[in-house]
Amino acid sequence: MNIEKIRSDFPILGRAVYGRPLVYLDNAATTQKPRVVVEGIAEEYYSVNANVHRGVHFLSQQATALHEAARERVRQFIGARSIAEVVFTRGTTESINLLAFCLGETILQEGDEVIVSVMEHHSNIVPWQLLATRKGIRLKVVPMNEAGELQLDAYEQLFGPRTKVVSLTHVSNVLGTVNPVKKLIDTAHTHGVPVILDAAQSIPHLSIDVGALDVDFLVFSAHKIYGPTGIGVLYGKESWLERLPPYQGGGEMIKHVSFEGTTFNELPFKFEAGTPDYIGTHGLAVALDYISALGLENIAAYEHQLLLYATERLTAIEGLRLYGEAADKSSVLSFLVDDIHPFDMGTLLDRLGIAVRTGHHCAYPLMQRLGIEGTVRASLTFYNTQAEIDALAEGIERVRRMF
Ligand code: PMP
Repeated sequence: MNIEKIRSDFPILGRAVYGRPLVYLDNAATTQKPRVVVEGIAEEYYSVNANVHRGVHFLSQQATALHEAARERVRQFIGARSIAEVVFTRGTTESINLLAFCLGETILQEGDEVIVSVMEHHSNIVPWQLLATRKGIRLKVVPMNEAGELQLDAYEQLFGPRTKVVSLTHVSNVLGTVNPVKKLIDTAHTHGVPVILDAAQSIPHLSIDVGALDVDFLVFSAHKIYGPTGIGVLYGKESWLERLPPYQGGGEMIKHVSFEGTTFNELPFKFEAGTPDYIGTHGLAVALDYISALGLENIAAYEHQLLLYATERLTAIEGLRLYGEAADKSSVLSFLVDDIHPFDMGTLLDRLGIAVRTGHHCAYPLMQRLGIEGTVRASLTFYNTQAEIDALAEGIERVRRMF
């Protein structure tokens, strides 16, 4: 990993903030984009742009080819069996809403139960609560231990005859915990229950093979994996997607329409009503090419070193409490220092050019479990450096002295 070379691929990393070099440590919220992604998008607008799937003309066919090549690229990247299993959505949030709605129309009845965990992002809680209001389903919650690891015995005990869906995050956006998803999926399957994996925080850092995991659904957002905003993926096993009804109606998702009735398009188009974000899908494909060229194993190894270094530097700071100390952890560090409010810490670090996240991180129930209102979160990725972690540690010390 030639980090200097890699950093030069991301123009934004060269900019200054308040006259200081930007130290961007908010990668769990969104990642920066390499030049090839931005240029790939611009190039498509400049020379290919046309609506996809329905034009006989040259540009439309070229745009369609790029869009469908992107689907194939995603299929390879996650190890799906067929492009029929790769649905494009607006992102993780829309993918989970789609699943909550469609599973709510098929396999969930009043009194049925959906298992989530205490460390879910709101986007894997609220869609189920909306369904609970409409259909009378219930949520069951997997607890965690003090280190921030899910409690597997308690998980196993949540299953009962009314359990119909398990929906869990792969990696916690607050604690960095990497959940033992293969075990969690296998347990659910012994009870005959399908599993949805929220891969928003894992897809940029871990190599994922949906076939090896045998996961039923997997969802993620392109913007967290160096791709554009507004595009994401819903992977579903073909047998499941076949069973589910459409989510939205409109163009593209139909085979034939008359006022007497409509027949729906085949997979994956049944779930893709309206003009798709075909520019975004191409941008995502370029991003996947970019990180595949770096190598996910290399990325994971480098990020792990960064995590170890950052953990050592931060825990050496007096008064700093780290939240999330799982044995298997991704490069996320949530912390509080003395009784300094996270907003104050974040605002003062910002003045030093250091971008971190502060607050509840869209995980109120987890904050409640931890008995705090929020944390400061530094989330690292492969373009971050030890020097940036030093800057963070020195920044925290400086803020601490001010208080
Ligand atoms: N799940 C997790 C674990 C996340 O970290 C996020 C983004 N913070 C989401 C879901 C939601 O992703 P998006 O806003 O891109 O839909």
